[in-house]
Amino acid sequence: MKFAENSTQSAEYLRQAIPLMVKYNIPPNPLNYALWYTYVSNKVPNLNYQMDQTLETYGTCPTILSEQLFREHVISDELSDNDAAQAQLIALTSSLSEHVNDAAEHTSNYSLLLEDSLDALNDPHKSPPIEEIINKLARNTASITEATSQFQQQIAAAQEEISALKEELQKTRQDARIDPLTGLFNRRVFDTELEQIIGASSPPITSLIMIDIDFFKKFNDEYGHLMGDKVLQYFGKLLKDECKEPTLAVRFGGEEFAILLIGQPLSLAAELAETMRHKIQAIRIKQKKTGQVISSITASFGVAQLTSNESAEQFIERADKALYAAKSEGRNRVIQR
Ligand code: GH3
Ligand code: MG
Ligand code: MG
Repeated sequence: MKFAENSTQSAEYLRQAIPLMVKYNIPPNPLNYALWYTYVSNKVPNLNYQMDQTLETYGTCPTILSEQLFREHVISDELSDNDAAQAQLIALTSSLSEHVNDAAEHTSNYSLLLEDSLDALNDPHKSPPIEEIINKLARNTASITEATSQFQQQIAAAQEEISALKEELQKTRQDARIDPLTGLFNRRVFDTELEQIIGASSPPITSLIMIDIDFFKKFNDEYGHLMGDKVLQYFGKLLKDECKEPTLAVRFGGEEFAILLIGQPLSLAAELAETMRHKIQAIRIKQKKTGQVISSITASFGVAQLTSNESAEQFIERADKALYAAKSEGRNRVIQR
């Protein structure tokens, strides 16, 4: 248990944590309180080491890294929600299989007894009193009926518990920050992250790639909206594969995506954009119905690096202008500003 200190000690930790959070422009939410509380308590040296490195590199702790540090160091020994639900499911399954064994044992004991009783009835030398056999059978019938009904109740209770757990898992999946079609973070996450970076006392070098699929309306018209959705899903997968934390890839809206590169200069951002442009150009999708191979998917890219005293809107607008230039200069290209 990490948080076992008395209230004076807790207050002291909070007194130390809050000014640090303000200094590094950390959003004041429960996750960050827990993270910074743990940080000032010095209880998890590895967390302090990683946090210090992050602060040195970025001048703040980007939200996605905060979440990662929180998962790794603050709740690592207390199971995360999803894991807890899964552990409960496993426990439930094994207790169910015990009950199944119990019921099976009762049933097989009962059939043995039936066989014995039949043998006894058929064997004229044994000839036990018939009432004795009937009494024994009746007692056992009652016991097996009891065992079976208990088992049914257990199954019903288990089913209820399983569906409640399923619902819980479903809820965790419906994360308000994730775009359901592509699995990427959404615009809201992007805005929060960018505001945090720009608000830092000395913002890190940051670049932005804006991406827009070329002639996507025409693509939908030609191959159907479902096929269009598949392309968007593929983009999601590609962006996830190419962008490792703290690089943040989001679905900006519709057929537009954005990549925020924290700690990376314009040249590296343009390089990444060029790599992605090639990968997108190489996409081949086989239409199941017709067998036709679609090979015409391209995208345009606008790249910009954050300048000092620039607002988030101005920064996005500059990258957007570069994207617009890429469109007007013929699409399927990267323009940097
Ligand atoms: P440009 O090269 O100038 O970007 O042309 P465009 O056709 O891609 O641009 P436009 O803004 O005219 O059209 C965007 C299209 O993207 C229209 C819309 O139907 C499609 N789109 C947006 N969101 C989705 C989506 O979730 N699924 C599918 N299938 N299509 C989408
Ligand atoms: Mg567009
Ligand atoms: Mg487009």
